[in-house]
Amino acid sequence: MSEFQDLYQQVILDHNQRPRNFHALEGKVRRSEGHNPLCGDRLTVYLDVQDGQVRDVAFVGDGCAISKASASMMTEAVKGRTREEAEALFRVFHGLLTGDQVSPDDPRLGKLVVFAGVRDYPVRVKCATLAWHTLRAALEDRNDTITTE
Ligand code: ZN
Repeated sequence: MSEFQDLYQQVILDHNQRPRNFHALEGKVRRSEGHNPLCGDRLTVYLDVQDGQVRDVAFVGDGCAISKASASMMTEAVKGRTREEAEALFRVFHGLLTGDQVSPDDPRLGKLVVFAGVRDYPVRVKCATLAWHTLRAALEDRNDTITTE
């Protein structure tokens, strides 16, 4: 397990320090806000969906390392996917963190498996899933603020 823990920490630190797709998107794009009052994480997800495909996705905001790393990896994971694939990935990631329906061996997770260790820390689960809940709101074109509470 310690090798896995090391990998988990390295990947999360890297994405926290150099978040990918960390900027606003201009033009006619969807935008959703997410807030995790328990930790103070706040982020805005920008989503450009055309012909049912995620053409571009980006985020801005501030929060703890896990929330930021998760948002960064979420953008990498869903860019170029269809809307249905992005929603399916939300369910796989959420299932990994909130129950035992999804095993860390599930190949659909890819790099997202580094968050498997977070499920032992319920407070952190909210940090890790915030970006994904916010993404889902943007996929559904909802403008309300998503809160984990
Ligand atoms: Zn947090």
